Amino acid sequence: ISKMSADTETEKRICDVLRLKGKSTALIIAKEIGLDKRIVNKHLYILQKSNQVFKTDEQPPVWDLLEKKKEIKHTLKPEQKPQTTRDTSEEEKHVEDLLRSGGLKAHQIATDLGQSRQTTNKQLYSMMEKGRVQKCSISNMWSLNEEWSEGSFSQERLFEMITELGDGGYGCVYKVKHKIDGKIYALKKVILTRKADSEVKALAQLEHPNIVRYITSWHGPNIWTSNQQRNQVSNRTYLFIQMEFCEGGTLTDWIQARNHMEKQRTTAEIHKIFSEIITGVEFIHANNLIHRDLKPDNILFGADGKVKIGDFGLVAAQTDQNGDPIERSKRKGTPPYMSPEQENKKNYDEKTDIFPLGLIWFEMLWKISTGMERVKLWSDLRNQRFPEGFSDKYSAESTFIMKMLSYSPEDRPHAKDIKGDLQTFFSLEHDVLSQRTI
Ligand code: ATP
Ligand code: MG
Repeated sequence: ISKMSADTETEKRICDVLRLKGKSTALIIAKEIGLDKRIVNKHLYILQKSNQVFKTDEQPPVWDLLEKKKEIKHTLKPEQKPQTTRDTSEEEKHVEDLLRSGGLKAHQIATDLGQSRQTTNKQLYSMMEKGRVQKCSISNMWSLNEEWSEGSFSQERLFEMITELGDGGYGCVYKVKHKIDGKIYALKKVILTRKADSEVKALAQLEHPNIVRYITSWHGPNIWTSNQQRNQVSNRTYLFIQMEFCEGGTLTDWIQARNHMEKQRTTAEIHKIFSEIITGVEFIHANNLIHRDLKPDNILFGADGKVKIGDFGLVAAQTDQNGDPIERSKRKGTPPYMSPEQENKKNYDEKTDIFPLGLIWFEMLWKISTGMERVKLWSDLRNQRFPEGFSDKYSAESTFIMKMLSYSPEDRPHAKDIKGDLQTFFSLEHDVLSQRTI
């Protein structure tokens, strides 16, 4: 009881100081009444809870009597009950204010704020989840997360954007530089939907020299928005996927360089590239996945010069006949490269990936100079009809491609069989032949 009255005595004295001196910091009040600043702070927070004092916006915190703020001239009612519905964000702000001058242990914060350890810990862990504070596991000291002071902390701030590599309907891919390790990466930003994580899960699972190397992923706010996007996009959450940067560009670039600029295509190089593509696809299928969007845009070349299959945005699990493999029903793939069953039917298996591979192989071999030529040729090709001279010039390849473009999925070969046959039929250099799946 005597402690209780001593406490109310201290609180009365604090109010007196504020009444006489006007708004003051805890330190000034502490000096005035000859008490430790910590103790004064603790009572200030108690007084705040009972609506007797308030903290102004100034830094360090400056306190004043609430009656002055409200301009009400009646006397204080110390018996007033603390507010029952407390604003958690307000409370967390108090913790933040305390930590601004340095790290503190949870029990010190609890004492300073005049609240229980339990309440304090709840606030601290909730703040930690939001990235606002951090705890040192050795000293058990809590401190402010510096990044937070500018807004919200998020990992994408650690990257400097260099260029935009691609802008699709579902997001964007940027060439970025990591501010700490100094390395260049590709950072893909996609709208966070219920199905978005399947891309990340597939990438994380598929560790292979012919598949784009995944680094990590996280959820964060929208950044680096172009003017055009800014008009449409609100502040929704995005999924960020950090990957190796494939500096060799895409297979589209490779094909175009040979169609329009007089770059040489050699069968040896084509076979090397194609066998790497098939090796990657074989690995995807061996992991019970279907890519579903194989096309030259999604096939890249790494710094090591090797093929890297990318864009697992449409990846699906292989399922049995009864299963429904469609994961993103709104997005179906890329029509010119899509297998007939992927266009028409709901259920399909990994053979759906073999069809576009036939088209891709053809495109690597055969020069298509104009868009008109391409339009004319493409529907024939999808129906297993080659342009004149193709089968004569590439007899072995055309036999393979013909099978791969079979209308019925069951007539198409498996990736692993194509790979095996490639090695048997073509006299490739030893290092190309020996690129087996590890
Ligand atoms: P989605 O098809 O999932 O909507 P998207 O097609 O926009 O997405 P990606 O195909 O992954 O996304 O990437 C778009 C383009 O960005 C690619 O065609 C390629 O040019 C470039 N790109 C993607 N990943 C990388 C990478 N790891 N390194 C270099 N360039 C990349
Ligand atoms: Mg793509």
